Formats: sequence, C-alpha cells, structure tokens
Amino acid sequence: MRVDELVHAAHVRYAAADDGTVADYIPALAQADPDWFGLSLVGVDGGVHEAGDAGIRFTIQSISKAFVFALACEAIGHERVHERVGVNNTGLAFNSVIAVELNAGSPMNPMVNAGAIATTALLPTSDAEERWAVVRDGLSRFAGRPLDLDEEVYRSETETNHRNRAIAQLLHSYGRLAADADEAVDVYTRQCSLAVDAHDLAVMGATLADGGVNPVTGEQVVSAEVCRDTLSVLASCGLYERSGEWLFEIGLPAKSGVSGGIVAVAPGKGAVGAFSPRLDAAGNSVRGQRACAYLSRALGLNLFASA
Ligand code: GLU
Repeated sequence: MRVDELVHAAHVRYAAADDGTVADYIPALAQADPDWFGLSLVGVDGGVHEAGDAGIRFTIQSISKAFVFALACEAIGHERVHERVGVNNTGLAFNSVIAVELNAGSPMNPMVNAGAIATTALLPTSDAEERWAVVRDGLSRFAGRPLDLDEEVYRSETETNHRNRAIAQLLHSYGRLAADADEAVDVYTRQCSLAVDAHDLAVMGATLADGGVNPVTGEQVVSAEVCRDTLSVLASCGLYERSGEWLFEIGLPAKSGVSGGIVAVAPGKGAVGAFSPRLDAAGNSVRGQRACAYLSRALGLNLFASA
C-alpha cells in the first residue's frame, strides 16, 4: 500500500514539470505527446505499483542496449564482451564518432551507440534474421511478453541513421566488428524500435534485480552473474554524460533512452520503469529522472546509503 502511495505521489509531484524537449533527430519520435508520463514499479516478488500512462507504448531505444549486453554476456561470456567492447564511460555524447577515434577504435562501453552496435554484432548467430530473432526473443523474455517492432519508428530511423552507419564502418575499419557493418546497424536499429511501456521496463529491470529470474513468468532469462555485470555497467554508463550525477543523486544502476524511458534497478528488490518524452540536454527524461530520485529517496533504495 505504501509503495502504491509513493508511486502516485511521485507522479503527482512531477506531472507538471515541463522543462526539456522531445527528441526529433529521429523524425517519428517528434510525434510523442510531451505530456505523457507513466510510472511502474515491479518488485522481485512480482508486485506491481503504477501511476499515470504506464501502459502507453513507445520505442525502447537505448534501453535495449542494457538487455542486449546481458544476452551477449550470457551467450559468449563477459570476458569476451569486455575485451571487445570495454566498460568505461566515454564522457562524450552517445553517438560520438570522436570517442571511437580517441580510443584507437575501441567502442569504450556497450551503452553508447558504437559499443551497442559492436555488442549486437557479437551475438553468435549465422545471419541477420537469426540475430534479430535472438534479440527480439531475448528482450521479450526479459519483458515476459512478446515485444513487437514499431515499423514506423524503425523506418524513420533507418532513413536517418547515417551517423550510426558511419560509426559501424569506422569500427569495421579498426577490425572491431564481429559481423557485417550494415547488418549490425540494421539489427541495432530494430532492437531500438521495439515497442514497450513503462510496465515492461519495470519487469525487464526487475528481472535484472532478481538474478535473471523474471518475477512475473518465473523464467531464468540470464544468469545472476550476467545481471551483476550488466548492472555495474549501467551504474557507470547508463545515463549518458550525466551518469556520474545520476549515481551521485539516485544511487541506482539505470538506463535511459531518447524516447523518454528510464529503467532504474534496485538489486534484490525490484525496478522502476518511467516514461515521459521531454529530455534534458544529454537525452534523459526530465520527469523520469525526478520521479526515480523521489522514489529512491522515499524507499531508501540508494545502494551507497548505510542508513
Ligand atoms: N536508436 C537511437 C540511436 O541510435 C538510440 C539513441 C538513444 O536512445 O540513446 O540514435
């Protein structure tokens, strides 16, 4: 009951915040209603607490990076993913080409576009369709339901993703890509175009919080070790260039995406899925960050707090 009240209180508190802007560099994302605001909290016991637009669908975008990283670690072991992709924050924008150049071709971490494309390319599959099937099925198991592709966003991003294609070619030129560059970008673009709602994000995050067991379906999606490794990367790299400030203020591993989603994970406890399309300059949902900060404080979730 108390958790329900706090989730509602977080929603009421920040529903009027109107700073930030809706992403429009992918044209289809600009159609989002800036006032959408949904919150969902799912516990490792499967308990669900929600407020606002928790059932409105949006594309998962960068949040997919966390779960594809987990699938890659599960498939080929975290040492190989670490060696190929890295785990350090770039301190630069998520779609930076300079970050790759400055680091002799290393994508640096799986939460920026270069690292995410390299991670998708690492999945051991024989062709593009199988790669896509592994990604879609894996993310669906995290969500506990079959996730669909938002065709309109996929098309819109495919028509405008020249920078991601350039990043993939650059990685290829450094010998850093384990699959064909165009294929890797296409599967990456599809994974970003999977449609989810705030509830799905909370279930996906709660699966990471629960040692890889989906608290709704009971399925072991990935191992507990993979969850640990994924959460550590989210702690250092999940909120773009604001990852340090986020960890300082909120103290939870999390991942955001440019459509306005955030998943924040409290290991052993559960996860918050937040959705509101207005973004700060780094690409993080403004209301989503504030609601997560409120809930982290009110529920005592900050990992670094001893009291
Ligand atoms: N599909 C988006 C891109 O590659 C994801 C960006 C994000 O959410 O950070 O540009």
